[in-house]
Amino acid sequence: MNWRAEPTRICLYPFLSAASKHVEESGVTLEDLISSAVFERARLRGKERIIEAIRGGAVRKPAIISNAQPEMELLSYPYARILLSCIGDEYLIRRYALSEAKAAHEKILASTYSSSDIIYELSKEFGIRVDFLPGDREQVQMPFVDYLRFTANLRDKRWKLVNRGLEKGRVKLRKSEFVRIIQEAIHERIKKDLPLAVPADLCESLRRYTEAIEIELKERRKKVGESGFDASSDFRVKDPNCFPPCITVILSNLKEGVNVPHTGRFAVTAFLLNIGLTIDEILEIYKNSPDFNEEKTRYQVEHIAGTDTGDLGTTRYTAPSCETMRTYGNCANVKSDDVCEKINHPLSYYKLKLKLKLKSK
Ligand code: SF4
Repeated sequence: MNWRAEPTRICLYPFLSAASKHVEESGVTLEDLISSAVFERARLRGKERIIEAIRGGAVRKPAIISNAQPEMELLSYPYARILLSCIGDEYLIRRYALSEAKAAHEKILASTYSSSDIIYELSKEFGIRVDFLPGDREQVQMPFVDYLRFTANLRDKRWKLVNRGLEKGRVKLRKSEFVRIIQEAIHERIKKDLPLAVPADLCESLRRYTEAIEIELKERRKKVGESGFDASSDFRVKDPNCFPPCITVILSNLKEGVNVPHTGRFAVTAFLLNIGLTIDEILEIYKNSPDFNEEKTRYQVEHIAGTDTGDLGTTRYTAPSCETMRTYGNCANVKSDDVCEKINHPLSYYKLKLKLKLKSK
């Protein structure tokens, strides 16, 4: 596969070095991109990339139907980076980077190119030394240092080094697992250097694009709510303002797309189930996680909920106590919260806080 020779392909992966080179060689200047009427389509597509990330958590990979489209797609990426930098919202940057990386991951998996070409090209792009296992086109191996670097944010235990075959410093992986690692590399690259230092007067001239994005972002925040779950559902007794600091911190990290350790995820899931959130409401919260996998997350949440799924049994877990939260470094009582001083369980915190709130009303 030769990325550089095929704009129709590289425009689907605009974060690759071949894509930046292509843009550079096209002779389009920043000034052209910002103000020339010829590039309005690229500017609109740049805005659209971000709006798609806000709305659906994935940036669409369009069907390329005209000769001009690859160039517009390619230019829309640096333009989107400028818009993101002008807005300067950390959550938005994270959500956008994740959405681009996820869409690329899907596209790579669905690619009609020879999979070994893709594996070699992408590993070269991200500086990973990868080889197919002798006589096996389905499995690859890579140096464990590269493996550790790119799996640092993957929480599932199957990614732990102890659970992998390690031979002479190299880790064995299925091809699809390697592509998942590539998603991490893409995510890292897209986030890198954002926000860029864009002059204020330039940002001002882009207000009509950034404003539309900010409105979308505000809408999304209103829908998801400050605590990270859908505030439009029935939350009469599920009052996020009464959540203990530990749960608020974990929810805010999930909302921001920060990876949360397994113990934190367990605690927040059990807590929310205990106060009456549905499995679907909880899945919504996890959608921002970098390694979100709907099927797997549903399985885990159902397991904690004790839903009878045949092989899982029906044990319903209770949220961990403050002592357990402290043991795993999940207690967030750093500001000596008065209510925390009186209780020994996050659920007791919630009940007491609700009671105090009702009384004060
Ligand atoms: S003391 Fe308990 S309720 Fe308060 S933050 Fe720590 S774990 Fe949460």
